[in-house]
Amino acid sequence: MTPHQIIRSNRKTLSLSINENADLVVRAPHRLSDNEIQKFISEKSDWIDKKQRLVKAHLEDSENQLSSDQCLYLGSLYPLKIDNNNVKPISFNGDMFTTANVNRERINLLLKSWYKKRFIEVALPRLSYFSDKHKLKFNQVRVKKQKTLWGSCSSKNNINLNYLLIMAPMKVIDYVIVHELVHTIHKNHSAKFWQKVETIMPNYKDARYWLKENGHQLRRL
Ligand SMILES: [Zn+2]
Repeated sequence: MTPHQIIRSNRKTLSLSINENADLVVRAPHRLSDNEIQKFISEKSDWIDKKQRLVKAHLEDSENQLSSDQCLYLGSLYPLKIDNNNVKPISFNGDMFTTANVNRERINLLLKSWYKKRFIEVALPRLSYFSDKHKLKFNQVRVKKQKTLWGSCSSKNNINLNYLLIMAPMKVIDYVIVHELVHTIHKNHSAKFWQKVETIMPNYKDARYWLKENGHQLRRL
């Protein structure tokens, strides 16, 4: 088994990891010889095998799940049908999406604006709801697409929410909203912060886990 990458540094121990493309990455101290590294890899070959298979299965899975003719909305996957007679640029009837466009880039643009509208319509009322119910006051809210963040809360309690979240189940959207609202009183991720999140949303860990596992699919658009 040949490592994809060996990263040498001042570290004292050797570590193996499997990156998102299922390649083996080795982190090793400067002094360790290639032979010693190879020996360690051989000893851990079962573990490496298992991990690589998991990551590969996951990769194939997400490729299958989000093929170009499917769209995620509130945690469910719906078919996308091309229909030349469709009047609206893009429409959704509860069972499927329909568009008259054939160009995937154009469809993605249409989807983004559709998602943004739905986010404002479906998710923003949740912000007011949790804010009122738990007396967590925020200043302004902005809805925009963000590359790396699902939400943020500034020192002035201005909240940003990523509208791509509308592809996630409602409980995940609620979690991100609650998370940012709690930042209006705790500006960090301290124990007190998480306690407050848990009081409002006892099962918030499920939502966090969902985002960790599926978040990359939402960011593809
Ligand atoms: Zn946070």
